[in-house]
Amino acid sequence: MQDKNALFRNIPQVDKLLQESDFQDLANDWGSSRLATALQEALDELRADIAADQVTQPAETQSPAILARVRVKYQKAQERLVRPLLNCTGISLHTNLGRAPLSASVMAKVSAVAEAYSNLEYRLEEGRRGSRYDSLEALLCDLCGTEAALVVNNNAAAVMLILRELAKGKEAIVSRGELVEIGGKFRVPDVMEESGAKLIEVGTTNKTRLSDYAQAFTEETACVLKVHRSNFRLEGFQEEADLAQLSDLAHAQASLLIYDLGSGLLHPNPPAILRQEPTVAQAVQAGCDLICFSGDKLLGGPQAGIIIGRKALIDRIKTNPLTRALRCDKLTLTALQETLKLYPDVDRINREIPLFRMLTISDQDLANRAMKLQDLLVAGGLSSVICQPQAEIGGGSVPGVYLSSVGLALEAEHLACSLAVLEAELRRGQPPVIAYIQNDQLIFDLRTLEDADIEILGQAILAAYDRARAMGNQE
Ligand SMILES: *Cc1c(COP(=O)(O)O)cnc(C)c1O
Repeated sequence: MQDKNALFRNIPQVDKLLQESDFQDLANDWGSSRLATALQEALDELRADIAADQVTQPAETQSPAILARVRVKYQKAQERLVRPLLNCTGISLHTNLGRAPLSASVMAKVSAVAEAYSNLEYRLEEGRRGSRYDSLEALLCDLCGTEAALVVNNNAAAVMLILRELAKGKEAIVSRGELVEIGGKFRVPDVMEESGAKLIEVGTTNKTRLSDYAQAFTEETACVLKVHRSNFRLEGFQEEADLAQLSDLAHAQASLLIYDLGSGLLHPNPPAILRQEPTVAQAVQAGCDLICFSGDKLLGGPQAGIIIGRKALIDRIKTNPLTRALRCDKLTLTALQETLKLYPDVDRINREIPLFRMLTISDQDLANRAMKLQDLLVAGGLSSVICQPQAEIGGGSVPGVYLSSVGLALEAEHLACSLAVLEAELRRGQPPVIAYIQNDQLIFDLRTLEDADIEILGQAILAAYDRARAMGNQE
């Protein structure tokens, strides 16, 4: 008891601690109020540890030990901030990892527009107010061959907005096979309910024929909503109505066909892995009245919801108050504009849009990355094997289709620490590295990187390995 009291008394005063230079440095980085809160928490924990006999040595109550406790809290807070990382999962559109990366050339334009004033809503020839959507609309109409286009915050917003303007208080016919959950709790039936449209389900989970739709039209029908099953596949005994026939049917009933295409493949000559994916061009050709898709899936651009189709309908949507609430900012609009400007030239798409660079990189170039990384690791005393991992595209695109890649694997039996500890240390590194464990190997898929990342990855792996081994030795 006596000892404990001495330990409690030993703890320096808060004011004294905050004057020390190490604490001041932390305060500069983190803000003095957050530091003060963290220090208070650290001291509370220290007192609890003394009370529980977890802390028995006077040194543990002194400034360096307290600083270490505060630094752990600081580190944890930093880890939650958004920052770049190395994606070694091979999944090129990883929703948790920010979906499509943007190219440096696109970002240079974004940064120029962001750092200055711009003609975002200003017509230079006439010297008067313009619309922030005009130039993008022209680009999209050109590329997609439609009369009109509108861009909002994301595709979920696009679906919501379309239904709200065109089907609120009316009926929207949907196949039971397409009442899907896209992810992050985006469920088609919920969105429809929220928009005020009445959902009319037709067909069954695996089969919805044209005749199922034909029987569902009433006076109250506003549209047929077709939803691309972008993140799962129906196999075997299944059938869906032909899109062009569905469009004819909707129009014969004086109704509309709206297509939530989701992934938005606009590439005129996509890589083989995307061959099964429906394209924007096919949807336009089939006669859909409105089509919507994401900007950051297979388009390879920023997060956005793109709506294309008939002018009369898009004009109506533009006047809906929700459009203002769901609008994009100038950074997004510029990033999308610059991405779309690459589209007329297939070579530029494949070279300059990171998503397509990843999907079209040659096996030889991937193998070169693997050999380079292997050399870097050998130089640090770590042996590895080159492997051929399989990855999906991700981001709710072409599910069940695997892309064979080239990677490097660290094998459990050749490591002086556990795979799980190393995998966790990689996530905590700077930059964080996201790899995955499979069959007693830690696998780094090298497709979802750039050439310049290999050197950084090599250093990150060696540093994480050092930390993981040190932790093992402490135990
Ligand atoms: C991804 C997707 C959405 C949601 O798009 P976000 O841009 O993520 O909001 C909606 N519908 C379909 C079919 C999708 O694939």
